[in-house]
Amino acid sequence: MKNILITGGAGFIGSNLTRSFLKNSDTVTVIDNLLTGSKKNLEPFLKNNLFTFINVDLIKTEWMTKLTGQTFDYIFHLASPASPKQYFTHQKETLLVNSLGTYNILNFFKESSSGSFLYTSTSEVYGDPLEHPQKETYWGNVNPNGERSCYDEAKRFGEAMCMTFFRKDNLNIHIARLFNTYGPNMEMDDGRVVSNFITQALQNKDITVYNKGEQTRSFCYVDDMIVGLSLLSQSQSAGEVVNLGNSIEQKIINVAHIIKKIVGSSSQITAIPYPSDVPGDDPQRRRPDIAKAKKLFNFAPSTPFEEGIQKTVEYFKSRFDL
Ligand code: UDP
Repeated sequence: MKNILITGGAGFIGSNLTRSFLKNSDTVTVIDNLLTGSKKNLEPFLKNNLFTFINVDLIKTEWMTKLTGQTFDYIFHLASPASPKQYFTHQKETLLVNSLGTYNILNFFKESSSGSFLYTSTSEVYGDPLEHPQKETYWGNVNPNGERSCYDEAKRFGEAMCMTFFRKDNLNIHIARLFNTYGPNMEMDDGRVVSNFITQALQNKDITVYNKGEQTRSFCYVDDMIVGLSLLSQSQSAGEVVNLGNSIEQKIINVAHIIKKIVGSSSQITAIPYPSDVPGDDPQRRRPDIAKAKKLFNFAPSTPFEEGIQKTVEYFKSRFDL
């Protein structure tokens, strides 16, 4: 039985990670300020004796006193707004949780003599990439002060902070760069493409493809991502940066057609300009090179897109009034 700490555990990926550890009879403590995470995602765990929820903001240090004397086998640091709509809405919070928040949790990791630390960085560190697919060795093409910079640069800073603690303090730190992920516990209004399209399709409303939908993404089902995060945290690869995601690349327009078909919707698929709540500099192509994750811990996402979408549609039907 392991003792796990998850920051951002009320969010989409964090709550799925929490569930997988609790299923394994591990003890899980979640830190979340519910800025973009949802208490609803934690409801299934609240009566579980192995689960503790601490509702605090990582950028303030008071939470550390609540954990005094505790040591964790694994710390997963996910806390941050993560969808473009969310981080564009909460720009300062995004900058602060990835910088000051990361500093605070790394200090806790060091002082508590905990075992392993994993920081969730993002494919956004590659910006609008000029290299394709993206390998971990690529430094990216990022606008340092554009509308996405509150997220891109915050995550890049977070990586720099993790690597500094790794080099200076010789700690067991891992960095995962997460590519687009989807599945149960996504929010209906997080603005992500999969949640938007499923919601629109279920309501028979227009499916809103931004620009012409020629831009591409590669979508990983959340269960596959959870396996990748667990394997990376247990691997003997401290100080390594590793892409996690599915390497099958798709045009957004095709995603619209697939979701419409699976839902059996009568929605129209319409191309519209980028709305004002979406940050600029939309990356035009994105596909992870996952050879490093495969080599280090045999990472191989296996859920077909149609199957993952089907499960996500079922989830949306059960959770939201659509
Ligand atoms: N997108 C879209 N319609 C939507 C939401 C998103 O066409 O209703 C596009 C968006 O412009 C981007 C892609 O889908 O090119 C993925 O967007 P998302 O917000 O899911 O995540 P990102 O990969 O940009 O972080």
